[in-house]
Amino acid sequence: MDASINSFMAEVKKRNSHQPEFMQAVQEVAESVIPYIAKHKIYKDQKILERMVEPERLISFRVVWYDDTGKIHVNRGYRVQMNSAIGPYKGGLRFHPTVNASILKFLAFEQVFKNSLTTLPMGGGKGGSDFDPKGKSDNEIMRFCQSFMTELCRHIGPFTDIPAGDIGVGAREIGFMFGTYKKIKNEFTGVLTGKGLSWGGSKIRPESTGYGTVYFAQSMLKTKNDEVKGKTVVVSGSGNVAQFAAEKIIDLGGKVIALSDSGGCIHDSDGIDEKKLDFIMNLKNEERGRISEYTKKYPSGKYYKGKRPWHIKCDIAMPCATENELDERDAKNLLKNGCICVSEGANMPSTPGAMQAFRKAKILYAPGKASNAGGVSASGLEMTQNSLRYSWIREKVDDRLRGIMENIHDSCVKYGMEEDGYCNYVKGANIAGFVKVADAMLAQGV
Ligand code: GLU
Repeated sequence: MDASINSFMAEVKKRNSHQPEFMQAVQEVAESVIPYIAKHKIYKDQKILERMVEPERLISFRVVWYDDTGKIHVNRGYRVQMNSAIGPYKGGLRFHPTVNASILKFLAFEQVFKNSLTTLPMGGGKGGSDFDPKGKSDNEIMRFCQSFMTELCRHIGPFTDIPAGDIGVGAREIGFMFGTYKKIKNEFTGVLTGKGLSWGGSKIRPESTGYGTVYFAQSMLKTKNDEVKGKTVVVSGSGNVAQFAAEKIIDLGGKVIALSDSGGCIHDSDGIDEKKLDFIMNLKNEERGRISEYTKKYPSGKYYKGKRPWHIKCDIAMPCATENELDERDAKNLLKNGCICVSEGANMPSTPGAMQAFRKAKILYAPGKASNAGGVSASGLEMTQNSLRYSWIREKVDDRLRGIMENIHDSCVKYGMEEDGYCNYVKGANIAGFVKVADAMLAQGV
């Protein structure tokens, strides 16, 4: 590897030695961007990348709440305000027991590039807590959200930092947090996105990450004169992103044959049609159930306990669950079985080994920071509608979303096309995302 990448990473490691996810995200960007910086000296002289890996601000706070039996619990809350060069900090909140500073710094760092790619004026941030929503009652969730926002509210605002959802934070949690913010600040503004439709939310926001990931796959396939129609697709996850990715694939004539959750995966070779998907959506969203229950209702489905779905033969793979959920072995399995396209709905779901395998095989491979940017793009459109005090119809938001995803695809091609005609979407996304933020940082001085 390039000596300048090694020495850069050694410097970053000094301050982040116990943050493996953050280091992984930085390494991937450094590999793409440092060779580019070598040809554009001003970025190097002004230490732009060195500045970008240091959060502008990292807030950590205590969140105390009591459960339904009256017992007191203590969690840690965070907000990483990574970069505000091109707009106010923007990015989701994650509630999951694995949340720590490393995970949130990696997500905030990715968010800076992702938001830059959307063409909308949004900086990057991320936050959350190690609170585990699993098994909690609605009242417990409400009390946790109220306590969390009681502290967070002093650090955010519609012109400062606009959080949204992520794993463990959906419409219910956004509602409780918005209610608390409004009460403390006495203002009704677009301080959060992912709001309910009757109180400032945008049409298509719930669908946008999943839809966008499929739109990106469509754009990639189009470069090979191919399409989603008739393809078999394996989707991991069964949350918001996976559900709407599956919905869009079915809509476009593809066949979804697998979905998963943290307990295992289901494989239905007959295809998961609209009716079966409705059952899953209801099971996961309303009943907060496990995907294993699918096979009781639909015996055509097989359940693999504790397994991820990457052993299943497919044309397109869409990892929509979580980071590092697809490793080198999984990637080799997918390739051996004839997979031609991978579009990531989650953030950094492929390990570096998996990414390398996809690249070596020269298949269509889109990193999450490009292909899952539909969610934050719709959030940006929600902010626009809030500023206008207006709400657009479904078709208008969907049209804009589609246009943004096509734009992101074209930017990746512009910066990612290699001499042999292979489009390296990872390199393309990293450089395209970098240039816009870097130029804004240069213009704004040290
Ligand atoms: N959590 C989503 C993401 O990873 C959405 C963020 C947002 O809407 O601000 O991009």
